[in-house]
Amino acid sequence: MTAIVWIRRSLREFDNKALVEASKEHDEVIPFYVVDDEYFEKADLGYPRVKFWHDALESFQENLGEDGKNLVVRKGKPIEELEKLIEETDAEKLYFNRDYSKYSRQRDEKARGLDIEVEDFKDAVMFEKKEILTSDNTAYQTYTYYAKKWFKNDKKRPQKVEDYEVPEVESEEIPSLKELGFEKPEDFEWNWGPSREGAQERIEAFKEKIMSYDEDRDYAWKDSTSKLSPHLKFGTVSIREVFWEAERMKARNPNSDTSGIKTWQEELAWRDFYFQMMYNYPESEEKALLEQFRSIDWRSKEEAEDDWEAWKNGKTGFPFVDAGMRQLKKSGWMHNRLRMVVTSFACKDLWLDWKDVHQYFSEQFVDAEKASMIGGIQWAYSIGTDAQPYFRVFNPWTQGEKYDPDGEYIRKWVPELEDVPDEYIHRPQEMNQIAEKESGCRIGEDYPRPIVDHDEERKESVEKFEQARE
Ligand SMILES: Cc1cc2nc3c(=O)[nH]c(=O)nc-3n(C[C@H](O)[C@H](O)[C@H](O)COP(=O)(O)OP(=O)(O)OC[C@H]3O[C@@H](n4cnc5c(N)ncnc54)[C@H](O)[C@@H]3O)c2cc1C
Repeated sequence: MTAIVWIRRSLREFDNKALVEASKEHDEVIPFYVVDDEYFEKADLGYPRVKFWHDALESFQENLGEDGKNLVVRKGKPIEELEKLIEETDAEKLYFNRDYSKYSRQRDEKARGLDIEVEDFKDAVMFEKKEILTSDNTAYQTYTYYAKKWFKNDKKRPQKVEDYEVPEVESEEIPSLKELGFEKPEDFEWNWGPSREGAQERIEAFKEKIMSYDEDRDYAWKDSTSKLSPHLKFGTVSIREVFWEAERMKARNPNSDTSGIKTWQEELAWRDFYFQMMYNYPESEEKALLEQFRSIDWRSKEEAEDDWEAWKNGKTGFPFVDAGMRQLKKSGWMHNRLRMVVTSFACKDLWLDWKDVHQYFSEQFVDAEKASMIGGIQWAYSIGTDAQPYFRVFNPWTQGEKYDPDGEYIRKWVPELEDVPDEYIHRPQEMNQIAEKESGCRIGEDYPRPIVDHDEERKESVEKFEQARE
């Protein structure tokens, strides 16, 4: 009695729902992965994300191998490869975990039409689709009310797989990154552990920080967040594992203030919230969720070429913004506070098209996750659900002064500002000649002057949003 488990984003065995369920019913299970060449050509992918996926996939295969099992890999179109495997193996059932983007849903619908019994499962999120609804049975668009129910509802616990064997089936090599057309960019620093072990190390390290997460998480220089986002994206760890690990921390500290843990779990609820938004409002993948702002005429990256290049390369003359964009380019990850600040700047100071921003982030983020990214971008652009109101415009200087008071984060990512005195670190354009000379940083030469007048842009942006509402 053979079953096929079609693996996609859950690159682990433990608590992989489809694998767990298949192992309960079948002695022979084939964990199966299809490397979809077309996807690599079409999607907005970049080195950090592809590298994480690739190494996590290899590591998953190795881990199964250590246990005498295998991850069967084929290259091609997923549905065709599934069809072939079903025929080759006479498998009687196909299992997979659900995914929620438009592309995945269309692909999975085709799989449901294959000539085999098919069962799919919730795995990537704690609550999905329409599990959490308002009293009118509509999907929530406001996080606070959604989160109340998210916390109240019963949550599944992680599960182990039962014993199973993987029959002899022909498998292809996982293609190298080079074969897929990806090379490490110059000057890029790779600091990720894309494996089950890497995820567990992250969890252990974060346990030391979680109690003060609520106080520290916004301070970009503190490195106080979990950095579990790519692991959750590629499923080297499950959402249930991390949620319950946090619960255990609470239980172990009955006499301590555990608000840091609760605040961290709220982020997991945000993740689910955006997944259910993408599922229930699929049009938000292409359009502003708020209809009144769909007609806004953003500047494309071609129209705004100079501003686009300055923003992308961290050369806007606004140090906090530039530090965020350079952290991204150099490491494939950006602190959440900075994701908000740089995106707000792209919108309200530069009026850049949010779809270009989305494409760039998709190529650069190691953790690029459509639901969270669209949610985050539309939040900062004031065009999404529960978004930052359009008249509340982040001030890129005061954000830096508040969340990086000594300029530690700025100095780390914008080295030409390293020796700029504290009093000028957020506004180096105000340095006098002596300060410029002493810090070895001449404004306009070593570091740019601000490319826009923030106060002007803020006023204009509010006006443009108001016009769009009329
Ligand atoms: C413009 C913008 C784009 C974003 N794009 C992505 C993206 O592509 N992928 C992604 O995973 N997150 C995205 N986020 C959300 C958030 O910035 C990252 O999840 C977080 O910075 C990841 O770091 P961490 O793992 O240390 O998070 P922690 O602070 O440790 O949080 C734990 C986990 O909760 C989830 N989470 C945290 N904050 C959010 C949030 N605001 N929305 C949804 N989930 C959240 C993540 O899975 C994260 O790993 C984006 C936010 C903004 C403002």
